[in-house]
Amino acid sequence: MHIAVLGAGVVGVTTAWYLAEAGHEVTVIERENAVAQGCSFANGAQLSYSYMDAMANPAFLAKLPALLAGFDSAVRVRPQINADLLRWGLAFINECTASKAAANTRVNLRLARRSQQLMGELVPTLDMDFSHRSAGKIILLASDKEMRAAARNSKLKAEFGFRADVISLAEAIDIEPAIQYMTGRYAGAVHSPGDDVGDSQAFTVALARQLTDRPGCRLSLNTAIHEIITENGRVRAVDTSRGPIDVDAVVVCLGASSPRLLKPLGIDPGIYPVRGYSVTLRRGQHTNSVSVTDFSRRFVISRIGEQVRIAGFADFVGFRTSKDAQRVAKLLHVAGAVAPCAADYQTSPNRAWGGFRPLTANGRPLLGPTSVTGLYLNTGHGTLGWTLACASGEEVAQAVSGQPAASQLAA
Ligand SMILES: Cc1cc2nc3c(=O)[nH]c(=O)nc-3n(C[C@H](O)[C@H](O)[C@H](O)COP(=O)(O)OP(=O)(O)OC[C@H]3O[C@@H](n4cnc5c(N)ncnc54)[C@H](O)[C@@H]3O)c2cc1C
Repeated sequence: MHIAVLGAGVVGVTTAWYLAEAGHEVTVIERENAVAQGCSFANGAQLSYSYMDAMANPAFLAKLPALLAGFDSAVRVRPQINADLLRWGLAFINECTASKAAANTRVNLRLARRSQQLMGELVPTLDMDFSHRSAGKIILLASDKEMRAAARNSKLKAEFGFRADVISLAEAIDIEPAIQYMTGRYAGAVHSPGDDVGDSQAFTVALARQLTDRPGCRLSLNTAIHEIITENGRVRAVDTSRGPIDVDAVVVCLGASSPRLLKPLGIDPGIYPVRGYSVTLRRGQHTNSVSVTDFSRRFVISRIGEQVRIAGFADFVGFRTSKDAQRVAKLLHVAGAVAPCAADYQTSPNRAWGGFRPLTANGRPLLGPTSVTGLYLNTGHGTLGWTLACASGEEVAQAVSGQPAASQLAA
């Protein structure tokens, strides 16, 4: 079959890879002049296999009034709430029960376990340098309440073979001495020794190169997708700025832009674009080697090779980017105050970046067939697209090929 993969972010390229592995002819279509220029460009770099905790949970719901009132500087909500945000927000609130949060986390943990296995298979067989490292991850928690929630979640993770040890601050400093130079007040931490770090852009570039070396695999850059053309309820072609491309099937991997092409087909994927930011700096005097997350301030510090990536924040402002410079300055200010030795904050240029996370209300990606024959989704990965890319790509390639999902079989 000839399959068009729409979008060349980490999810699109990984999907194309597993489609090619299954013996299909693949054309990846991307509007930018290179792969991974969207949300996959400069994210937090964390392969957080064990950290699949659903954002929609009772604790988040309890914080919602403060977030809406603007008391949490790491979250911005557009003052004029529009219909899209309202609809998405109500669906999100509906997911904020303990049982739904656990069910959503379990679905993603299963995928994460498969992603970890697949990454373990890809890395030794392919020639790829993406600063991949078994770094481990420490999440610093500010309150005893957060520590108790972490202990409950740790049991969930153990069901899937992941370690997420709830530890004291002193134990966290033993594991990652750079934490002693952080100024936040912490009640303790969670340590996940099995989590990795890696540059998702470099990974996507390297995988795309290997993909296009294979016969029958093409990458069409600088090609804007206008429309998915259907006939009698099935996909026939993709209309692009370079003209129509005839296909047997289409996989939508357009991240936060997915709704724009799906809505004309009567499909509302329920994805909201949640803006986040990063800077990439020179190392500081005491840079962490283990990835560190400050949970309450909502930022992560990852060492990528000789550089430090600081990423975070969650802005519900639609596709607006007018406040980007202000938000990056805020991120630098918060991280600089809390982790002054982790990076050289004077680094210039600091490669400031913003990306739209394609977030579903339940935090689970949309994987598999739709009501239109031959049209598949692999989108809506929210905060976890880099971590879940391999398993998502494989699962959708298996759906296209009529095979059962390996991530489910491995349960
Ligand atoms: C600040 C921040 C930190 C993050 N940290 C992490 C992390 O540490 N770990 C993790 O797992 N995840 C993280 N994420 C989330 C992760 O980056 C995303 O989930 C992931 O990159 C989504 O990949 P994607 O391929 O679906 O989307 P994208 O990378 O956005 O790819 C979609 C592609 O579609 C293309 N496109 C869109 N419309 C069209 C069109 N009409 N025609 C042609 N092409 C089109 C775009 O140009 C783009 O290249 C983070 C996100 C942010 C913002």
